[in-house]
Amino acid sequence: MKIFSLVQGLATGLLMLALDVITHEYAHLLVGRALGLKTIGPYWSPELLAPAVGYDVSEWSWQLTLALYSGGLVAAVPLFATYFLLVSKGLVTRNRMWWSLSAWIWMLAFYQAGQGIIEGAYHDMYIARHLAVFYAQVAMVLLGAVTFGAMHWRDVEDYLRRKGHVRN
Ligand SMILES: [Zn+2]
Repeated sequence: MKIFSLVQGLATGLLMLALDVITHEYAHLLVGRALGLKTIGPYWSPELLAPAVGYDVSEWSWQLTLALYSGGLVAAVPLFATYFLLVSKGLVTRNRMWWSLSAWIWMLAFYQAGQGIIEGAYHDMYIARHLAVFYAQVAMVLLGAVTFGAMHWRDVEDYLRRKGHVRN
């Protein structure tokens, strides 16, 4: 039963990640097209080691800027929405599997929001794979972890208390 719950949690977490990546790339694609940009892909980028969408443009424009921002910012929305749905259904506090899954979703949402800003505002650094971009990505995930921990640390204490590990 516990193994099943663990496998179920991991599978759901990976599925969320896959859906999230698809949402990110299709946001680039659809927003780009809606703004009249010629899009390339989605394709696998060996440089970024991730799926990517390109734009066949010769000069900078506000449409391009918006399309670059859109991937991460759009992808963050369903993740935040899923987290708040889980909270409203009381699932975050149900057990460790749901708690971990919610933490994962919350951290992914932070990562995506940061990624949207990085790709939009710091596009040249992102394409050049500047080390500061990597630090910013790690910082966003850590910020997600810290805020989730601050909001839901009590749940862990509750589990332990329920299991009799904490006496008071
Ligand atoms: Zn992107």
